[in-house]
Amino acid sequence: MGRLFGTNGVRGVVNKELTVEKVTNIAAACGAYLGKKIALGRDGRTSSPMFRSASISGLLSVGCSVLDVGILPTPALQFSVKHFKLDGGLMVTASHNPPEFNGLKVMADDGLEVSRQQETEIEDLIFSGGPQLSVWDKIGTIEKRVAIQPYNESILSHVDSRLVGEAGLRVAIDPGNGVTALTAPEIARNLGCKVYTINVNIDGRFPSRESEPRPENLDGLRILVEASEADVGVAFDGDGDRSIFIDEKTEVHWGDRSFALVAKEFMAKNPGASVATPVSSSRVIDDVVTAGGGQVIWTPVGSVDVSRLMIGKGIMLGGEENGGIMYGPHLQVRDGSMALALVLEIMAKSKRPLSELFGELPQYAQIKDKVPCPHELKERLLEALRTSVDAPRVETIDGLKLWYPDGSWILIRPSGTEPVFRLYAEAENSERVSDLIEEHKALVGSIIDSLN
Ligand code: MG
Repeated sequence: MGRLFGTNGVRGVVNKELTVEKVTNIAAACGAYLGKKIALGRDGRTSSPMFRSASISGLLSVGCSVLDVGILPTPALQFSVKHFKLDGGLMVTASHNPPEFNGLKVMADDGLEVSRQQETEIEDLIFSGGPQLSVWDKIGTIEKRVAIQPYNESILSHVDSRLVGEAGLRVAIDPGNGVTALTAPEIARNLGCKVYTINVNIDGRFPSRESEPRPENLDGLRILVEASEADVGVAFDGDGDRSIFIDEKTEVHWGDRSFALVAKEFMAKNPGASVATPVSSSRVIDDVVTAGGGQVIWTPVGSVDVSRLMIGKGIMLGGEENGGIMYGPHLQVRDGSMALALVLEIMAKSKRPLSELFGELPQYAQIKDKVPCPHELKERLLEALRTSVDAPRVETIDGLKLWYPDGSWILIRPSGTEPVFRLYAEAENSERVSDLIEEHKALVGSIIDSLN
């Protein structure tokens, strides 16, 4: 893990871990590293105007021209970098973190977040005295630019608007006081849907629900789906890259299942194609991709790894179990509003209830658990695990993933941010999956004891 960058950009508690001075320095280094023309966007957090100003100062100090695209979802900022042919972008956001957090996501000229290697190079620049500052007559300029309209138009261009319009779908949308309030309802309306909303007032205190959509905080959306007799409900995280769907019976379907639904349709249109997803995703992805004659390319956990692999191998669909779906023809980044448009198209084409479409996907039992482990023991623990586990197939892309002949699997990996080892398991039934978790929790625990 880098000295500033975490799993997705730089994050910290406002005015404690993340200060104006720090953001100014990071923005200056990013500007010097990325190039002359930089897009700058922000989410709706209370501290985002402050960090927007700090980012502008940093970028101008190294001679960048700043295209200020204002408040918008992270994927819309990413799209604008590519659309306006810029050298890079900065997004002031802490995604789904609690309101006291903020951060920066850094985009390269292709609109994707910078690679791990590029993050290290930016950190090296900061920790070796910072970038060269511009002389007085080479200081940069600021220009405002409207980015949401071309972004929405791109999303609409990738689905059959007429087909969706004829279906007359009713859609319930919960942006959770985040910035998809600016995109998702408009996109659904433009697709001819009847739109119902809650929590569409952008509010950086996230007063209505936690910014991360999870089954336990979507009661408001469930009530809206029921009251409006909606065909589908969708909730987004704070910066709009993740989406979670609920069906007309108000059941929540977790991210790997909505990704599987999108992947199934993608395989019908693109037989034999490859699809990228992290090793933590459900086997259901493998099932639908293999059934379509294609292949799943497994990646380390983290959206940057999936996006970069998609660009490198020309893969047009990727996704994460947390509800981040990446549709390459639009852009190889997680995009909640794009995911909504794709799901609406699938529903319109099938003319069947969403609960039935989800019901057709293979169903597995899953458990996610964790074991405390100090950062300094993580590497030795992983090493010791490698020699003590027993499974016919072992993947080492990220931590250890053990596959068994009955199709069940367990992933044991060190968290990049917390002092824990995470365990994810999946099997045909709940008994088998809890056995897998218990057995390996005990193994991890006994190795930690022996290392201490
Ligand atoms: Mg996010």
